[in-house]
Amino acid sequence: MTKINYTNVAIYNHEKQNFIANQHMVVDTDTGKIVEVGNGSSINQVVNEVSDMHGRYVMPGIMNAHTHITSIPTYWWNDGKEQRHSDSHEFNTMFAVKNMADAIDHGITYIRNVGAAFDIDIEVKKMQEKGWIKGPKVMTSGKAFSITGGHGSGGGYEVDGVDEVRKGVRQAMKNGVDNIKMMVTGGVLKNGETPDDIQFTPEEARTAVVEAHHKGKTAAAHAQGNAGVKEAVEAGFDTVEHAFDIDDETIAMMKEHGTVVVPTMNAMYAIYKYGKDTVPDWAREKVIVNIKKHFASITKAVQAGIPIAMGTDAGTPYNGFRSESAYEMELYVEKAGMTPAQAIDSATINCARAMHVDDEYGQIVAGNYADFISMAENPVNDISVIQHDKDVYQNGICVHQQAVATETEQQAAPSKVSAAI
Ligand SMILES: [Zn+2]
Repeated sequence: MTKINYTNVAIYNHEKQNFIANQHMVVDTDTGKIVEVGNGSSINQVVNEVSDMHGRYVMPGIMNAHTHITSIPTYWWNDGKEQRHSDSHEFNTMFAVKNMADAIDHGITYIRNVGAAFDIDIEVKKMQEKGWIKGPKVMTSGKAFSITGGHGSGGGYEVDGVDEVRKGVRQAMKNGVDNIKMMVTGGVLKNGETPDDIQFTPEEARTAVVEAHHKGKTAAAHAQGNAGVKEAVEAGFDTVEHAFDIDDETIAMMKEHGTVVVPTMNAMYAIYKYGKDTVPDWAREKVIVNIKKHFASITKAVQAGIPIAMGTDAGTPYNGFRSESAYEMELYVEKAGMTPAQAIDSATINCARAMHVDDEYGQIVAGNYADFISMAENPVNDISVIQHDKDVYQNGICVHQQAVATETEQQAAPSKVSAAI
């Protein structure tokens, strides 16, 4: 048994909404868990190693509740195809392994993958658990559910009617998914539909949720227009993804049902900012029409106190697995009215709660896994510092060490939120 005492560390505290300086944290590298957190004055453990953190700021590892590990953000349109799901197992697996490595190197220690071609996330999760590949821990959804020809169809299950939904969801759980992902409305990255289109009926949506909950699994709804979001909330989905448009009635329903919103603002922002001439006009047009509404909708949810779990839709154009998750947090502050501490909560405790793993993740407390990031500066003062290179720890061990930044790397750092919307 190896116990490491990390001393002289400023630890993020959710209740305080800030970091508390001069703390110590003991981790057991055999279990990967934190066994003690305190103010450094007395240690109740026999420790094998002491590591002086020199006053650095430590917060839980970033959790991202909406990723697509089988997609590469720069590969989307290069060959002119609308979707890349027709690519081989091999391509999709290679992308996933690369994205997993990017994610952990950039401080993302847990992802909820919400749609993977060929159920590849189920296998990738096993590879990560065995230690065969590096990467964050994975909550899987396998293939997502679409209506025939609907959003995301081609890479997932195409099901119509209550019976097919029920059979499909049961099959997905038999295949080993942790979560069910259903495309309740149309979306941006498919031609011939809009975010306001309703796709699944209320009965179909409800059936998916009931079947998932019967097995103790969660369910996530892709829902963008207000009518579709309402349908998803009413159906009982644990999380609503995107939520481009919500009114007061939807807010009230979300409160009643305890719905969590996963905004994915960077998916829209990245296409808006970088997609001209590469992302097809039909997709970019939908972003231009909806981005203001989307950001206003998330602002409204934040103001109303609806819990927000950070998710980026990583894998969509120009929206990858590196500093984009931290950039999404900056968008919450700059464009949705969160405090930096609320943005940190969205990517830690709120994700853990939405994913039903908050008994072991999302806070630096005894009993939780020692997945954390360590920074030289305090992100409560400036949320953008999380985007910088940082030390990353998984199960109590440093798995990525901050490099001494060269001038080129500093220039390559993401720019501040700048594009006018
Ligand atoms: Zn998505």
